[in-house]
This record gives sequence, C-alpha cells and structure tokens, in this order.
Amino acid sequence: MEPMTHRSSYRTIPVLDQRTGTLPLPHGAGPSVQSLPGPTQTTDTLGRPLRDLRISVTDRCNFRCSYCMPKEVFDKDYAYLPHSALLSFEEITRIARQFVAHGVQKIRLTGGEPLLRKNLEALIVQLAALRTTDGAPLDITLTTNGSLLARKAVALKAAGLQRVTVSLDGLDDAVFKKMNDVEFPVSDVLEGIRAAQAAGLGPIKVNMVVKRGTNDHEIVPMARHFQGTGVVLRFIEYMDVGATNGWRMDEVLPSAQVIERLQAAMPLVALEASAPGETAQRWGYANAQGQHDPQLGEVGVISSVTQAFCADCNRARLSTEGQLYLCLFASQGYDLRTLVRGDTSHSGDAALAQAIGSIWQGRTDRYSLLRASLPNEAPSGKARRVEMSYIGG
Ligand code: SAM
Ligand code: SF4
Ligand code: SF4
Repeated sequence: MEPMTHRSSYRTIPVLDQRTGTLPLPHGAGPSVQSLPGPTQTTDTLGRPLRDLRISVTDRCNFRCSYCMPKEVFDKDYAYLPHSALLSFEEITRIARQFVAHGVQKIRLTGGEPLLRKNLEALIVQLAALRTTDGAPLDITLTTNGSLLARKAVALKAAGLQRVTVSLDGLDDAVFKKMNDVEFPVSDVLEGIRAAQAAGLGPIKVNMVVKRGTNDHEIVPMARHFQGTGVVLRFIEYMDVGATNGWRMDEVLPSAQVIERLQAAMPLVALEASAPGETAQRWGYANAQGQHDPQLGEVGVISSVTQAFCADCNRARLSTEGQLYLCLFASQGYDLRTLVRGDTSHSGDAALAQAIGSIWQGRTDRYSLLRASLPNEAPSGKARRVEMSYIGG
C-alpha cells in the first residue's frame, strides 16, 4: 500500500489572479466569454452542454467500501476537511445558481455520505427554490448508502428532494458487510429504501457496483428481489477512480456479461435511453410474448469502463470545499471557493458566472474514451487523481 494520502495533495487551479483581482481565462478557453445573466446554454470544446451538477456535501462516510474508501487509507489518522473548509449552504446555493444560469437542470447531492451533513434539508430547501433558464424547477436528487434514509426520508421529501439513488452491493449479509467493511446489515438499507418509497422519493434507483469474484453472484438475486417493485436496479462496472482502491481490470465484470447472466435467468429487451447524456443502458423485463412488461420494470447497466460515454458527458462536479472538477478522473480542480468568499456582491456573482462559463467552454475531458491509450498506472504525486468520496459519484 502507498503512503497515506490526504486530499490536500490534490492540485488546485486558482480562478482569480490574487495580484490583480482579475479573472484569467483558464487554459484552452475561448477568447469571448458570455456575460450573464440571460438564458444560455454553455457548451464545451466538444459541444457538450452543461446540464448536470453533482455537489459533494461532505468528504466523510460511515462506510468503508473497499472500492471507494478502503479502511487502510481512510483510517483514524486520515485528514478530513475541517468544517471551515466546507462550503456553507449559502455558498453552495450561490454557486449552484450560476451553474443553473449556464444551463444546469439537474442537481445531485452526494459525498462521502451526504446524509451525514447536518441539516441537509436546509440546503435542499434553498436549491429547490432555483429555476432553470426556462423557468422550470430543478430536478434535485441524492445518492446515499441508505444507512440514515429510514430516519430522514420524510424530511428530505418535505424539503423538496424529488428522488434518491441508494447504493446496495448485494442481498447476502456476509457479502454486503465485506463490501461496506463496517458490518452494516442489508436489512437496514432495505428499510431505508422502503421508507423512501413510502415518502414519495421515487422512482428509486439502486446502484450495485459489481466486483468480479466478490459480489457478482449477487447479480441475479438482486434483480429478482427488485423486479416488479418499481425500483430500478443498475449494475455499475467497478471503476479505476481515485488512487487508493487498488483497482484491477480483472475485477471488472463487463456489463455485457451482466446482461448475459440476467438473460439466462429472465428475459430482457433493450429500451431506448430516456434522456440525452444518460449514463445507464436500459433493459426492460419481458413478458411471455417477449415484450417489455412495465409492471415488471427495468434494470440498467453503467459501463463506465468498457463503453465510454464521454461523448455525451454533461456533468460538472463541485467538491466539498468548492473545487470545480470537469471529470471523475480529473487530477485538478478549479478553485471556486476563493471566488465565492472573496466578493459576496452582485459583481461577485457575475465573476463567478464568468469563471464557470469560461472553464466549461475550455473543457476537453474524456478520460474513459482515452483510457485504453493511457499508461496503465494511475497518476501519483501531485497529479494524483481525486477520490470519489471527495468529489462525489
Ligand atoms: N455514499 C453515497 C453512496 O455510496 O451512495 C454517495 C457517494 S458514492 C461515492 C456514489 C456512488 O459511487 C455509489 O453508488 C458508489 O457505489 C459509487 N462508487 C464508488 N466508488 C466506485 C468505484 N470504484 N467504481 C464504481 N462505482 C463506485
Ligand atoms: Fe461511503 Fe459511498 Fe464511498 Fe461507500 S461508496 S465508502 S458509502 S462514499
Ligand atoms: Fe465524463 Fe470524465 Fe466519465 Fe468521460 S470519464 S464520462 S468525461 S466523467
């Protein structure tokens, strides 16, 4: 195992020139930056719109999933962010408002474990008041490990949350406990899912990260369990995010094989994508006539490793301390916190909007598309990739 990593080793790109107080254009950005406000849809160098903002509200978690926050690294000595480094709810909302002005329609709260952030409902209330450039409410969702969901579902719904995605890597307690590495039982997550359904936080998605040799025998039991319940189960290929999970290609079970295994147990038919830039390929459970039966529902596969979806990637990520990341596999983020803390006036908002626009316009990221042609090893040292728990999934 490598020496202990700390998030402070991540590279940061200053957005504001401290000497002049001006906004230098990030490398690669075009010379003209739109002035806001006004309805706009900002696109990057590959013509990809900015539609989806993922906000990490904490870098802490009560699980130690081996593929995300392995215990050996995220131990009691790990340097989590101090509270003063975290964006406040007001700062998050101010930044989110400018993203929305650039075309964002969907916000996903994540982490770490987002439900560990105190009084998260207050943030949801603020975000739910924002409107898209077309005047519509935002689609506000949250990804959670489900451990606190049973307790919080009703309050989250009342605050304005529309849907939740719950992570669950198996139905067998021994397998799940091995994966979360904190002895957390399956039954409590299932209870959280039931509470979320009852509170109206549906349609609920359940994410299962598939690790060959660890939980791949849970694929069919998981599908059987959620078939016909209204819950959409999605199988995610184990990804080489971050620098600490010891990722190996031979532990990835390609989605094509997940579908093969499912089809051997239950007939499936391919469904159309429901939205542009959707990460999951959808498959519907079929009836005896071989047609999709909506009563039985659907499953999805997210082939982040074997089938890159960078061409449609419309997602930006805001870290817990206000760094903007353009890709899950980035090793550097743009410092929006300095900007948001430096000037709280209307002109500060305009500077923020300008920075977000020019950074997105300069975006070239497409890591998964290039993965096969890149060196095998994850970058280390200063160019170390950020951890998923820091920027969110
Ligand atoms: N703690 C919350 C949870 O687990 O749902 C939210 C944050 S977690 C980083 C977001 C999603 O990323 C989860 O569904 C998790 O399973 C997924 N994830 C984390 N590490 C991954 C990896 N190496 N490969 C694929 N998915 C991963
Ligand atoms: Fe925590 Fe989610 Fe990462 Fe698991 S995947 S360690 S629950 S942040
Ligand atoms: Fe988007 Fe980066 Fe993932 Fe490609 S690798 S889909 S650009 S986050």
